[in-house]
Amino acid sequence: MRGSLWEEKESNLSQRNRALPYLLLALSIAIYSCAHPARPRGPQAAGVYHIVTRGLTLWRIARAYGVELERLAEVNGIEDPTLIKTGQRLFIPGATRVLKIEPYRPPITLTARFIWPVKGRVTSSYGYRKGESHTGIDIGAPRGEKVVAARDGVVIYSGKGFSGYGNMIMIEHEDHTVTLYAHNTSNLVKANQRVKQGEPIANVGSSGRASGAHLHFEIRVGNNPVNPLLYLIDSKE
Ligand SMILES: [Zn+2]
Repeated sequence: MRGSLWEEKESNLSQRNRALPYLLLALSIAIYSCAHPARPRGPQAAGVYHIVTRGLTLWRIARAYGVELERLAEVNGIEDPTLIKTGQRLFIPGATRVLKIEPYRPPITLTARFIWPVKGRVTSSYGYRKGESHTGIDIGAPRGEKVVAARDGVVIYSGKGFSGYGNMIMIEHEDHTVTLYAHNTSNLVKANQRVKQGEPIANVGSSGRASGAHLHFEIRVGNNPVNPLLYLIDSKE
């Protein structure tokens, strides 16, 4: 018995000796990579840069590359998806080549009809307030009140990844105009979901930078906000 125990010990030792060169190799590789930090590897690090050309919106670019709008914004440190500039360099994670994306040509006149997303009084109008531009209207409504889609469309964003907006939904319509609904207590629809005009999409709240329950509502033509009051019609019409 003693003999076999000894033999076992010896074989363990020799195994360790055999492993030593590999250990040293691994160690030197580790030291080398510390001294020479390689480019970050893995699927997240792969991607291309896309230069924003005139008429391009963040959601148009996100869709062309098949990247989630929120992820594209996050990777590029964009806090407001509606604020991207011509000439801006965007990193497109996961993309292997730069795509040519047709610019958006806004309709000369907006003939589409948008219904009020929630019934209420306009508590803050479109335009400049306290030296800051307000890119939509605020509609005061009780917390929890249903917010409905202003027009038929496809949800291009539903989440709370953009600072200030809280729970937010963006819907793209047939003519590529986009409506935006912010500060919701909860969102009822998901990205890529098709919605009908008048369909409930969220509940009124005060999430994000908001004082009191209200809906912050925007209509975007390309990247440019327009005054929603010029396009909203009574749903009974
Ligand atoms: Zn607002």
